[in-house]
Amino acid sequence: MSGLMQVPTGLGDLSSWLAAMGFALLAANCLLSGRFRWLTGLWSIDSVMRTHQWLGRLALAIFLAHPILYFDVPETMSAIGYGWGILALIFLVALVMTALSRDEQGYRYEAWRMSHGLLSLLVMVLGYGHILGSSGLVKRAPDLSLALLLCVLIASGSLIWAYVGRPIMLAGRRFEVRSLACVADRTWSLTLSQQSGPVFSFRAGQFVWLRAKSPWNTVDHPFSLASEPRADGTIEFLVKEAGDFTRALQQELPIGSPVYLDGPYGNFTLPVQSFAPAGLLFIAGGIGLAPLLSILRSIYSQEVPEQSLLACPVVLVVGNRHEGQLLAQAELKAFSRRGLVVHQVVSEPSREWTGLVGQTDEQVLAPLLPSDPRGWQVYVCGPGPMMDGVTRLLKSRGFRAAQIHSERFRT
Ligand SMILES: Cc1cc2nc3c(=O)[nH]c(=O)nc-3n(C[C@H](O)[C@H](O)[C@H](O)COP(=O)(O)OP(=O)(O)OC[C@H]3O[C@@H](n4cnc5c(N)ncnc54)[C@H](O)[C@@H]3O)c2cc1C
Repeated sequence: MSGLMQVPTGLGDLSSWLAAMGFALLAANCLLSGRFRWLTGLWSIDSVMRTHQWLGRLALAIFLAHPILYFDVPETMSAIGYGWGILALIFLVALVMTALSRDEQGYRYEAWRMSHGLLSLLVMVLGYGHILGSSGLVKRAPDLSLALLLCVLIASGSLIWAYVGRPIMLAGRRFEVRSLACVADRTWSLTLSQQSGPVFSFRAGQFVWLRAKSPWNTVDHPFSLASEPRADGTIEFLVKEAGDFTRALQQELPIGSPVYLDGPYGNFTLPVQSFAPAGLLFIAGGIGLAPLLSILRSIYSQEVPEQSLLACPVVLVVGNRHEGQLLAQAELKAFSRRGLVVHQVVSEPSREWTGLVGQTDEQVLAPLLPSDPRGWQVYVCGPGPMMDGVTRLLKSRGFRAAQIHSERFRT
């Protein structure tokens, strides 16, 4: 019988099979985080990352059970093999724990991401060394050891692609910073123009990973495209200051400096074909307006003839803390003359404010929702707690999960 067809013959073999599964999960996780468009290009980043996190936890549970299941098995293993196995387990615990406690511990994102990649590679290589030192199932099942070697190759291939292949590919398509302007409280409009390479095409609502200055820069940041696809090839982003990079945009992205875009990614877009919704509802919190503005621009931009505008109500609700944070006011006003219904909500208004007051929660949103949700499509983007609250509200009002589309600004 071929090695891969063997069935567990005891606790030891069961443990080995479990570990082989764990190994395959780790390799799958390397693929998931490798931003391969053929694999994840059309999922939301949120679904990809949630799957990645659950696979990581499952793999850790399996590898913690692996040595316990061996407790009565007289298997011979070289001392080095044991050592590598123990080290692999320690690094795996560190890998998962640092990922789970990332927010509470306040690690610098870039340092955390680099260590996450390195720890993954160490776990795979040490784990494979441990397997080679074993005299158990893998020795009796050559197909299994080949499959495990394939897992190591997949994991290291993903890393080599991320750190070598992708920069080479990105170098072939260069953008340049055309303008950078502060357009609202701690919020910047960044415009790029393409200088070389194949034409960058995207769908309104998608996002890219942006690399400043050099394609070999190991740090890149995800940003939604805020512009619609334009004939002149310029691209706009709206960036809110959040940390090291976004608070130093003028130094990181001086006018004329090169920029490299990895993407586009994501499925926070309007369907391409046979799209005839009963209505479209866009709900944005703060900078979450960026991808929604891209979609609205693609619907209402002057390049689109009036008659091709969607023949359904289109409603936008935008929540902000104060009026200084409002974005694209003039443009939204122009869109409202072409049919868009805009509701601006501010939670800490000035005396002059005449719009809605409050949070983007049930109290404010409930009166704005359609009485019959059938056929409506809702697009939500904003801070995590706001998105969770809005999703709960929509579901309680009869919207099905398939009608609710969301983009989370978090990886
Ligand atoms: C799909 C998506 C689309 C986004 N679109 C926009 C947008 O249009 N406008 C906007 O202002 N912001 C957007 N963001 C958020 C933006 O990526 C972060 O605010 C930015 O990367 C923060 O970097 P920093 O170094 O300034 O801050 P940091 O203090 O380093 O990070 C603040 C938080 O941002 C996240 N983050 C930081 N760096 C990265 C990175 N390299 N990759 C992934 N996440 C990171 C982490 O959760 C981190 O805790 C988007 C995020 C995602 C996932």
